[in-house]
Amino acid sequence: MAQEDVFKKIVSHCKEYGFVFPSSDIYDGLGAVYDYGQNGVELKNNIKQYWWQSMVLLHENIVGIDAAIFMHPTTWKASGHVDAFNDPLIDNRDSKKRYRADVLIEEQLAKYDEKIDKEVAKAAKRFKDQFNEEQFRSTSPRVLEIAAKRDALHERFANALNAGDLTELRQIILDEEIVCPISGTRNWTDVRQFNLMFSTEMGSTADGASKIYLRPETAQGIFVNYMNVQKTGRMKLPFGIAQIGKAFRNEIVARQFIFRMREFEQMEMQFFVKPGTELDWFAQWKQTRMAWHQALGFGAENYRFHDHDKLAHYANAATDIEFKLPFGFKEVEGIHSRTNFDLSQHAKYCGKKIEYFDPETNESYTPYVIETSIGVDRMFLSVMCHSYEEEKLENGETRTVLHLPAALAPVKLAVMPLVKKDGLPEKAEEIIKDLRFHFNCKYDEKDSIGKRYRRQDAIGTPFCVTVDHDTLKDNCVTLRYRDTMEQKRVPIADLRGIIEDQVSITSVLKKLL
Ligand code: ATP
Repeated sequence: MAQEDVFKKIVSHCKEYGFVFPSSDIYDGLGAVYDYGQNGVELKNNIKQYWWQSMVLLHENIVGIDAAIFMHPTTWKASGHVDAFNDPLIDNRDSKKRYRADVLIEEQLAKYDEKIDKEVAKAAKRFKDQFNEEQFRSTSPRVLEIAAKRDALHERFANALNAGDLTELRQIILDEEIVCPISGTRNWTDVRQFNLMFSTEMGSTADGASKIYLRPETAQGIFVNYMNVQKTGRMKLPFGIAQIGKAFRNEIVARQFIFRMREFEQMEMQFFVKPGTELDWFAQWKQTRMAWHQALGFGAENYRFHDHDKLAHYANAATDIEFKLPFGFKEVEGIHSRTNFDLSQHAKYCGKKIEYFDPETNESYTPYVIETSIGVDRMFLSVMCHSYEEEKLENGETRTVLHLPAALAPVKLAVMPLVKKDGLPEKAEEIIKDLRFHFNCKYDEKDSIGKRYRRQDAIGTPFCVTVDHDTLKDNCVTLRYRDTMEQKRVPIADLRGIIEDQVSITSVLKKLL
């Protein structure tokens, strides 16, 4: 199946099974805004819990906060967002569609990479066991020719971005003959800058009202609280502050479902360090965050680092952790070495000292910062994409199953009476009453057992138990495993022991130590 079709299926699966709905669905939705349904909210909460615990529980020197969405308007002057939080946008005159110029060029770069991969795949097929990929990549004239074009484009693109040269960005689009995916034409407007912040008014009268912004990142809530937390928590460098919260960006190109939203959620941690040590910490956080992703078990081949060509004005190193989605490797998380830019800017704008007194050296300085910033929604989407499978069974049937990591699954155990009589429902309820304190259990009595199993597979429930007539005599149930569909007879008294450890967030956290 084409990857585009797979993605469409995942989107409709999310809606059909109560994971993600378009916002205000009864009014036909609102562009790039989504609501999480009864299963989605559980999965999302589990992702957040996994992140929070990995930061705050596993690190003695990381604490959390929960700052307000609204912040003093000067915050965004100081951070540079009022003047520089822009995307270069370009319109196609025929389709009237608007695109990010940088994204169009990045997609073109990806096309060159795909071409190279195709050449490699063709050669691998032809030469079979004799194939040496490394040698082929470095000697094939065809591959070298495409790679040279790609590298030239890459260099030109990086230079244009670094210089903020909008005319050059447009020229690249023209020279590369990039067409609008909708109209198929090259009738492009100039490239313009577009600020991504949403604003609103605070205060009751028009005179007294001041313009404030919906925060475009959660990070600034941490920076403005640096002194509060450092002093009240008596924190010693290096230490971190973690936060999970909503962020808002008026994205120009709102495509790809919850990958790019206008209202989304971030999990950010700012790690304050002694100046001069930041690049070591940057390297360490890269490894720590990659390990966090990989502990979920989706396979290391689905992740890669993408180091930035264009560093933001505040950064001295930056990388993305990219995850393989049906539409290519895409950023899920950014790790940035933000220098002392933010704290120094806030100190300048508020007129107060924002520093750290180092008791070891008896000097005061502005700490440097390593930021790890991951989007909850993008993480949710990657988990969904890698869990979704239409599995062909031996009997010729197909089942749709979500192989969610058990620790993230919305429901951990479904308890099903074989029939709706003879005391079986009561026995099933009894089991749930006992286990619900330990993990999320659901009762299901409608339809045949086969259909009920499929329903649970589709929402990723790792365990089902069936209560039958023998259960009343021997206090045993049939335990069914989602991925293998294996069934086992087990005593009710053993259920908690078998299931709890496998579905707990702790089981994944232990892999990180
Ligand atoms: P992009 O280049 O894709 O626009 P970004 O580099 O601007 O992303 P950051 O500012 O580094 O993103 O934000 C950190 C994280 O927040 C991203 O890695 C992503 O997971 C998430 N994020 C950013 N913008 C959005 C959005 N519009 N919708 C959903 N998640 C987002």
